[in-house]
Amino acid sequence: MNTIEHWINGSPVKAGERTSEVTNPATGKVTGNVVLARAEDVDVAVAAAKAAFPAWRDASLARRTQILFAFRELLNARKGELAAIITAEHGKVLDDALGEVSRGQEVVEFACGIAHLIKGSYTENASTKVDIHSVRQALGPVAIISPFNFPAMVPMWFFPLAIAAGNTVILKPSEKVPTAAIWMAELWKEAGLPDGVFNVVQGDKVAVDSLLTHPDIMAVSFVGSTPIAQYVYKTATANGKRVQALGGAKNHMIVLPDADLDLAADAAINAGFGSAGERCMAISALVAVGGIADELVGKIAQRAGELRTGDGLRGSDMGPLVSAAHLEKVSGYVDAGEAAGATLVVDGRNVAPDAEGSGFFLGPTLFDNVSTDMSIYTDEIFGPVLSVLRVDSFDEALALVNGSPYGNGTAIFTSDGGAARRFENEVQVGMVGINISVPVPMAYYSFGGWKNSLFGDTHAHGTEGVNFFTRGKAVTTRWSDPSNRGINLGFPQNV
Ligand code: NAD
Repeated sequence: MNTIEHWINGSPVKAGERTSEVTNPATGKVTGNVVLARAEDVDVAVAAAKAAFPAWRDASLARRTQILFAFRELLNARKGELAAIITAEHGKVLDDALGEVSRGQEVVEFACGIAHLIKGSYTENASTKVDIHSVRQALGPVAIISPFNFPAMVPMWFFPLAIAAGNTVILKPSEKVPTAAIWMAELWKEAGLPDGVFNVVQGDKVAVDSLLTHPDIMAVSFVGSTPIAQYVYKTATANGKRVQALGGAKNHMIVLPDADLDLAADAAINAGFGSAGERCMAISALVAVGGIADELVGKIAQRAGELRTGDGLRGSDMGPLVSAAHLEKVSGYVDAGEAAGATLVVDGRNVAPDAEGSGFFLGPTLFDNVSTDMSIYTDEIFGPVLSVLRVDSFDEALALVNGSPYGNGTAIFTSDGGAARRFENEVQVGMVGINISVPVPMAYYSFGGWKNSLFGDTHAHGTEGVNFFTRGKAVTTRWSDPSNRGINLGFPQNV
């Protein structure tokens, strides 16, 4: 049986008494065991990151940039290997896994510009013969704690910039998908990154709690469900760390009566069922405005019926859910929606997947006439379940989105520029798509939601990411000059 280990100080390390099974969700077969770190294992990793920090923070920008470019080249050449690892442990189809790696690679490419991104400013003669300049400096060892649904991309939202800025990193991946992190650690080594700058600790709550309270961890970037994001934010800030904690979502797509309904139906399928709905930017609530619902639901149902569900290595459109427990949970929501009186238009519970063994499959599922008190509307299901709500007006649709406790992503489909502009202006959501159902910003913008979808004030990557992984210092300088002489105990005046 394959054992998935930690990666500390440039080498694999097998430590910890407990293990957790890793499964291929398409076959249901256990493919390995991941070791789960104890607090003392986390201490060893943090000590390695702390020891590597002084030399790495002072490595020239030229050297750091060369290593980043080398990492980018290796990743680009070998991304198929990483995508195959993701499909084997997460279940998403191979094309989607490749897309995930490419979106992560964008952040590496953005971080290659660190020399420009990290530039300070300079002011001559702020006072007579007094100059001021500012610099941004690395923090030290930082922790990245990631969810199961993007084993490569979510860590890459953070570590390229953290490393480029001169920090050292401990990545704690989800125990469900541990291998991608080790693959990326090996790639960093091949790219020439000094040992100890990038470390991986495998584990669960024990490892997370050790990182959140460790005195040598300076910052925590977390992505996962809302209750854990909130816990991470509270615990790590109480321990004096800066924290960005990205949480769960319930994303709405509004379709106005003047929208191109074929385009909207395609977009609803892609955003509702891509990665089996296991995306924080998935659309799970579709709000049909005016009299278009019957036609739109018909178009979505027809497309959903044509999707091929199966093993992600077999050219399927949609893969399995991540685990047997998650399949049970999502199927339970389908039962609950039916019992609550929603119209079950497409039922994915009896899907016949193209796969060997007993994988964790649920086919695309579509509900119509969903109301706001039903659990299929109120809860983040994180599965291939799309709920259609019918409203009469734009205002009602906007009120629905703004009434949600989440604010990660949203989309509007319309050909009315005025309505789109009003939506963009008034909607209380961090990432907005206009005729785009999964509006994930490029790496040079920042990714993050509002309300219960993000705790902290800094979004991932872009300039917000650069700021998160650095702190500012302002230096005021006066060189010796005869005109400076004289005693004056008063507060300095700007003359
Ligand atoms: P999760 O919250 O269960 O786990 C996330 C991480 O926290 C994992 O590394 C896990 O080991 C750790 N963890 C789990 N329970 C913990 C506990 N009690 N104490 C300390 N650490 C704990 O999330 P998941 O199921 O892996 O991922 C799915 C969730 O992530 C969804 O809610 C999804 O919306 C969210 N997500 C959000 C974004 C975003 O950008 N906002 C992106 C991707 C995923």
